Amino acid sequence: MQRETIGNGAKILLTLGLLLAPAAPADANDARKQLAFEVVDRNAQQMTDVSDAIFYFGELGMQEFESTKLLKDTLTAAGFKVELGGAGMPTNLWAEYGSGRPKIVIVTEVDALPGGSQTPGTYERKPLVANGPGHMEGHNTHGGVASMAAFAVKQVMQRHNIPGTVAISFGPAEEQLASRPYLVRAGYFKDVDAIILLHIRDTLATGFGVQNYAAISSVFTFYGKTAHGATNPWEGKDAVDAIQLMDIGFDKLREHLRPTYRAHRTITVGGIQPNIIPDKGQIWWFVRDASMPAAKETYDKLLKIAEGAALMTGTTWDVKYAASAWPQLVNKAIAEAVQKNIELVGVPQWSEQEQQFAKDFQKAAEKPVVGLRTAPVPLGGRTQAASSNDNGDVTWVVPAGSVNFPSSVPGIQYHEWKAAVTPVSSISHKGQVAGAKVLAASIIDLLTTPELLQKARAEFEVESKKTPYFSLVPPDAKPDLELNRAEMEKYRGELTKFHTGKTPRFN
Ligand SMILES: [Zn+2]
Repeated sequence: MQRETIGNGAKILLTLGLLLAPAAPADANDARKQLAFEVVDRNAQQMTDVSDAIFYFGELGMQEFESTKLLKDTLTAAGFKVELGGAGMPTNLWAEYGSGRPKIVIVTEVDALPGGSQTPGTYERKPLVANGPGHMEGHNTHGGVASMAAFAVKQVMQRHNIPGTVAISFGPAEEQLASRPYLVRAGYFKDVDAIILLHIRDTLATGFGVQNYAAISSVFTFYGKTAHGATNPWEGKDAVDAIQLMDIGFDKLREHLRPTYRAHRTITVGGIQPNIIPDKGQIWWFVRDASMPAAKETYDKLLKIAEGAALMTGTTWDVKYAASAWPQLVNKAIAEAVQKNIELVGVPQWSEQEQQFAKDFQKAAEKPVVGLRTAPVPLGGRTQAASSNDNGDVTWVVPAGSVNFPSSVPGIQYHEWKAAVTPVSSISHKGQVAGAKVLAASIIDLLTTPELLQKARAEFEVESKKTPYFSLVPPDAKPDLELNRAEMEKYRGELTKFHTGKTPRFN
């Protein structure tokens, strides 16, 4: 129903848009982009100060309090209207400038990962805080790049009297796929014309089509009856037996699933000691596939297996939805516009020292020694990845583009401490400048070219209807605000001594 409303509303507004704001000639558009680039260059230090500060906060998903406070302060001072705490999540940040349509939103995140603490610049294992959390994917860079690009667009909108709205959605806890379905449900994207997904990568790139995988994350708990393992085991009902049977049951199913599926689990409660029959057992599953209907089909079978395991052991069970993510559906019309901006901006000029550092790092990490990329990726060369991002949900309700910027070293895998070596390096900083420029220029295109929005919408209407969106979030589900809280609080104090103390201001 919501999608219907969005579709019709957008059509009406696009028609109005065509009457009110004819497409800017290419040269005028270039002047706008040149102004955006000047703003980014002038504020490069301020932008990377934002990203660096977030790196040292090292905050886990749903606990991004210091990161979002810094972003709120920076964006408020930069003239944005900022809402913190929407959709029932204290660290959910939405910032916007302007009013009405077209409305273009940058969708990104700033959370870190458990165990990711690492001293920047050294590729020997050396945590800043032992066992502490840290940015071993580089989401900290998203804070600076998104804020900077939106600010540059704002300056251009003011100077050139461009109508519309530019916004940023920093969603909490991307690393656990925990927030975007709630943002969609809360209606944040219902009056939006297009979004751009922003993510760090080792190259300047965009793409189109279905880019990654659907995922469903749920926790299954079995309840039995405890007894002494030797004296009266016949009186016990073993909840961990149910978990094992669930595991075996799923392994039998594997042969009959599509080759595209992925399923993995971890046992989170597995008993106490051998002579106590466990009355509680818990297993946490991720089920994935190339499309959400396919993932859901496997997930429904998993529910049946749980039921069977309970029946065999005389236990009872329940399942708690933890998270879900649709695959990202990225729009070709927007990708073509983004690609032109990628070619306009170009890959950063790396210094000899930066190239040498990257090569030494790759050698030490036993990866191909290729250095940093010196050319952007051509459009269309990307295949569907098996990873997931909960921003995928948004892409089924609004036409979406994507921008990746070159702030990490090729071959160094995210979610390993090694990826925390470079997010505050000059390599990362240069990549952020390129990313902010491409992002700003692409938003300017979307704000000033009604035909582009119309084309993107038409493509979206066809592609998204092939797999109509449905939410996996149970109607009574609420975001898990306790997620990572205990883990974060263990290290928050120790991390404080690394804080940069900077309060960046854009000008
Ligand atoms: Zn990420």
